[in-house]
Amino acid sequence: MTKELRQRVMTMKNKNLIWVYPPNNWISNFNKTFIYGWCNPKAKLFVSVEMLRATSLRRVKIFPNGNFAQTVKLPNKKNIVKLIQIVNKKKKILSRLVICHLYPKLQTANHKRQTTRRGVACNAPTIIIDPGHGGKEHGTHSPKGIPEKHFNLQIAKMLYKKLCRRGVSRNAQKIKVYLTRSIDKFVSLKQRVNFAKKKKCNIFISIHHNALPDNENPLKHKGISIYYTHDSIKPLVKSLLESISKETKLKKYGMFKRDFAVTKPDFYRGILIECGFLIHPEEGEYITKRKVQEKIVKGIVKGI
Ligand SMILES: [Zn+2]
Repeated sequence: MTKELRQRVMTMKNKNLIWVYPPNNWISNFNKTFIYGWCNPKAKLFVSVEMLRATSLRRVKIFPNGNFAQTVKLPNKKNIVKLIQIVNKKKKILSRLVICHLYPKLQTANHKRQTTRRGVACNAPTIIIDPGHGGKEHGTHSPKGIPEKHFNLQIAKMLYKKLCRRGVSRNAQKIKVYLTRSIDKFVSLKQRVNFAKKKKCNIFISIHHNALPDNENPLKHKGISIYYTHDSIKPLVKSLLESISKETKLKKYGMFKRDFAVTKPDFYRGILIECGFLIHPEEGEYITKRKVQEKIVKGIVKGI
């Protein structure tokens, strides 16, 4: 344990319920029964003493890709720092979804409220919305000849507004949301990733519309597709694909593992959504309607 790490562990004792080293690798949510989130494969997850005291937490269930994997017992001792590594059968450390099941000691409404507020306060995620292309980079074109960059920006802005509004209401979780571009200008892929790094991004959502190579029949391909690199974000990809397709009635084209520049950095969880095929004569017409764009955005928000 490094000096810095030891120090952080000491200071976290009375502050945070769950603390991850290095920081910003923890995307989490909180309700009455669960704290849940993803952490980087190299991140170390600690459960603080205060958490053990505040709740009668004894067990932490770990669900790789949403499936039950193993139960880790946490001894309720003073100054305990428990490192939880999520491993596969070959003992390789994986990036995984972690869910902590809480068993509150005090069942009073007051206590519950206090615990909930605390959990939210220390785990507010930062979401970056990335409208694909821009400026000299047009992307593909709609059946009417309008460039993809335009529709990517429309959807990204709508999503931005919706997430900002949601971030301060409902469950009081303060989500930080940023756009990589808010006007029609060229932003390189490197600049987009650097911006995310600067903002300590947790979830990076790139918005695009699909096209096909020249030799493919555009009539044969329809639907929503989502690209990702890290397996830890697969549950989110699945949930997004379901909810966007449900809201828009668009087909699910699929989820694909790729090493895209915006999905592969490991300091955040990145996805790239292709909101349907812009080059498809009917689908291209349909997905560029304002009402359908609103449905796409609604589907993304619900999926998150
Ligand atoms: Zn594109």
